[in-house]
Amino acid sequence: MSGRRFLSIGECMVELSQAGDGLLRKGFAGDTFNTAWYARACLGPDWSVDYFTALGDDTMSDEMLAFIDKAGIGTSLIRRIKGKTPGLYMISLKNGERSFSYWRDSSAARSLAADPDRLRDAVESAEVVYFSGITLAILPREDAEALLAEVRRAKAAGKLVVFDPNIRPRLWSSYDVMHATISEGARSSVLVMPSFDDEAAHFGDDSIEATIHRYRTLGAVNIVVKNGAEGVHLNFAGDEAFVPAEKVKTVVDTTSAGDSFNGAFLARYLETQDAVVAARFAAGVAARVVSEHGALVAKVKLGLSGR
Ligand code: ADP
Repeated sequence: MSGRRFLSIGECMVELSQAGDGLLRKGFAGDTFNTAWYARACLGPDWSVDYFTALGDDTMSDEMLAFIDKAGIGTSLIRRIKGKTPGLYMISLKNGERSFSYWRDSSAARSLAADPDRLRDAVESAEVVYFSGITLAILPREDAEALLAEVRRAKAAGKLVVFDPNIRPRLWSSYDVMHATISEGARSSVLVMPSFDDEAAHFGDDSIEATIHRYRTLGAVNIVVKNGAEGVHLNFAGDEAFVPAEKVKTVVDTTSAGDSFNGAFLARYLETQDAVVAARFAAGVAARVVSEHGALVAKVKLGLSGR
């Protein structure tokens, strides 16, 4: 392992997308994995990027593991569970509109935090710990509590704990549980990276300032609010800045815009400690991602192959 470790915690799923003539194309994606992918693409070789999840012992789990490994993302912390399988989702297209169907209720990833020693070792081995509201939503309540306790320890130890609320109401048992757990995720983090449309819809924020205020009041030190084609609002320890999105000729597919922004932002922020420089860089990466199909855009198409 190289010296500095970026650890992303969550669920990667099998993705089935339309390939024409009723055929389906198989891929692998999931919010925290996508962010790990872009962090890996953008970070230098002095950083290792590791994914923390649980997989089964079936062929699809083997394939996913090989895919993660091939992307240069560490798999040594991934737990394998006998008799389990990965979650799966399918993207359907109707009149140009995409919709998603999920089969993830009994996925192996739901047990990712069930082994407390393994979780602790992984978090302790990392300098940066990244997780999301989806990570918390898929876990049994007591495992979500265990994960939150671990990231709180990491925050207290001075690590950069980063949280994207990624609010998905249908993954939660109730609005109350969702609000309480996401708020706890933010409270346990140093940097929170929400998307304004989600926060407005599900927390009732009437402005970006309201989102920033809510997360700062909870105890997050730094906040990056993403606002689609508009750009991002930063509040780093009270210092405010706005960085516009880049103009895109044709938006092809916005899947993973926020995930790619987060990965690229963190990579550049870790190298420069400058949030505005990092946001400008991430806006460029996300603009290229929304100009291509699919969640995971290759390094060469991101213009990063020289790194
Ligand atoms: P999420 O995918 O989490 O909802 P956003 O939609 O806010 O996140 O997008 C994240 C980032 O992706 C934005 O801050 C911006 O840099 C980029 N982005 C998203 N949509 C566009 C667009 N239409 N044109 C240019 N950049 C975009």
